[in-house]
Amino acid sequence: MLLKDKVAVITGGAGLNGLGFATARLMASHGARVVVLDLARAEPAAAAAQIGGEHLGLVADVTDKASCDAAAAAVLKAFGRIDVLVNNAGITQPAKTCDITGADYDRILDVSLRGTLYMSQAVLPTMQLQQSGSIVCISSVSAQRGGGILGGPHYSAAKAGVLGLARAMAREFGPEGIRVNCITPGLIGTDIIKGKLTEEKKAEIAETIPLARLGRADDIGGACVFLASDLSLYCTGITLDVNGGMLI
Ligand code: NAD
Repeated sequence: MLLKDKVAVITGGAGLNGLGFATARLMASHGARVVVLDLARAEPAAAAAQIGGEHLGLVADVTDKASCDAAAAAVLKAFGRIDVLVNNAGITQPAKTCDITGADYDRILDVSLRGTLYMSQAVLPTMQLQQSGSIVCISSVSAQRGGGILGGPHYSAAKAGVLGLARAMAREFGPEGIRVNCITPGLIGTDIIKGKLTEEKKAEIAETIPLARLGRADDIGGACVFLASDLSLYCTGITLDVNGGMLI
């Protein structure tokens, strides 16, 4: 029970095929009480109910500071503490640099980067009072490779921004017992890629990956459990590549 008695909040956690839901389910199986936070259309309460047990689903928009603060207050009211935050909510858009509009740029950066800041701001005062906490930020291999199969340059920039923001928070809050780390997933077979790649294309990509397959949502969930748990107590400011060897 690596996360016994911990309260873990996962943003963008309601998509049943997504990384966030897999992480929530895995954290729950390790003893955590999980809070699945997502947009109303993703039905977070239904997702939390699917996990079974004492878990919570909350509607929140990570691009809206008041919504993030209200969500953190609701978690405190329900469970009295916040031990783990997984900043997982994100959206993507394939695009070429010269085609990206201001609205595209704002939309993509708002969810991944502003959302990571706002949700971290919402939980940090509680973690400071507790003198402990673990924040895990989901970046992407696109930040490291400079673009990817499905994300445009604005997505790469947002995810690279997450790496910088996380390291800065790790430095600032380390002395208070709060750790902040990142995961950079490779290509994972979730709804974010649904309908965008043919089976043939997926097989072609898998051939270029040393572990010879696309990632699974649980591959990222496992990394989140590690970074959330006391197994990683001396890790902060790190970037954990979970990509099947894509960068070798
Ligand atoms: P997904 O689309 O299944 O999940 C994203 C979730 O974020 C959805 O449930 C969505 O409703 C939620 N969301 C979107 N905007 C939101 C907002 N404003 N407020 C709250 N929630 C919001 O995709 P996924 O593949 O599970 O992606 C999860 C994270 O992993 C994203 O940050 C994504 O960029 C990142 N990532 C995914 C891959 C991949 O290959 N799937 C690779 C690298 C990184």
